[in-house]
Amino acid sequence: MSAKILDGKSIASKIKEELRKEIESLIKKYQKVPVLVSIQVSRDAGIESYVKAQKKAADRLGIGYQRLVLPEDIDAGGLVEKIEELNNRDEVTAIILQQPLSERVMEEERRGNISKTAFEQFIDAAKDVEGMHLKNLGNLFYGSKLETAGFGKLAPCTAMAVMELLDSLNRDPREENLRGKEVVIVGHSKIIGKPLALLLLNRFATTTVCHIATSERNHLEEHVKRAEVLISAVGQPGLIKGGWIKEGAVVIDIGTSRINGKLAGDVEFDKAKERASYITPVPGGVGPLTTTMLMKNVITLYRKAND
Ligand code: NAP
Repeated sequence: MSAKILDGKSIASKIKEELRKEIESLIKKYQKVPVLVSIQVSRDAGIESYVKAQKKAADRLGIGYQRLVLPEDIDAGGLVEKIEELNNRDEVTAIILQQPLSERVMEEERRGNISKTAFEQFIDAAKDVEGMHLKNLGNLFYGSKLETAGFGKLAPCTAMAVMELLDSLNRDPREENLRGKEVVIVGHSKIIGKPLALLLLNRFATTTVCHIATSERNHLEEHVKRAEVLISAVGQPGLIKGGWIKEGAVVIDIGTSRINGKLAGDVEFDKAKERASYITPVPGGVGPLTTTMLMKNVITLYRKAND
């Protein structure tokens, strides 16, 4: 078997076209443009490429994108003040705090002057485009019941991107296509593995989450081998051996590491491709959809603020 490539770029492109039309009609209805504000403290090179991709997507969809670059020597208090200022500005629909933060702010975090998750929590839940505010994460926990009441549609963007990729494979109603499937996630970070596990559980997938301790006990292989859907979000090229992939599995590789200037995923792509039914490339798989989901979240917040 040779897997079909799950082309995130073309799926993202279709979704963006739908979002563009939706925004056009919402702007007519609300008579104002949604605005996403990016705050950055560090001058990290990775941030430059995220910001560029976000601005390009926002421009294409008709979303305003404002970039706020704070001085690198700003302290934690100064950063919080800026966030609160944006929370209070009516024309701001959504706020994204780019990671990593500056050395100075992280040092205060390391010394315990401010907690690790605190900065995301200062962003008003109604403007939290990354879905990391405790209120928004709590809605994920409650699942579909709240979704029908108009909440819970907002989730961390990469986790949403994976759900879009999985849904693109199946014509069954969304509520049914993952029901009872053996899904294995590798990586349990707060931005990817944990929220994704909740999204999958809300869709009745039989969900296993592996992490560092799974590898420490040499149990990773046995979990990966029974996955009908494997999702890896670690950032260690070659961690998932191609020979471990179950015949016909769907493989979603979120990992992105740079080797000799080239991006690589966690999965041994060439070998895994021989066994999987569908596989994402790195780059060109999850990445383009993550930015698209960020824009989708802007619209969710824009609707909530104006309806
Ligand atoms: P992270 O916070 O560093 O999380 C990595 C996770 O992998 C942690 O849960 C860690 O467990 C686990 N882990 C580490 N070594 C492991 C091992 N040997 N076996 C099993 N699990 C292991 O990173 P992240 O922010 O979630 O990002 C993960 C990857 O996705 C990175 O490569 C990142 O660049 C990429 N990414 C891609 C996109 C996209 O749109 N394509 C978006 C975001 C991130 P412990 O915490 O217990 O050590």
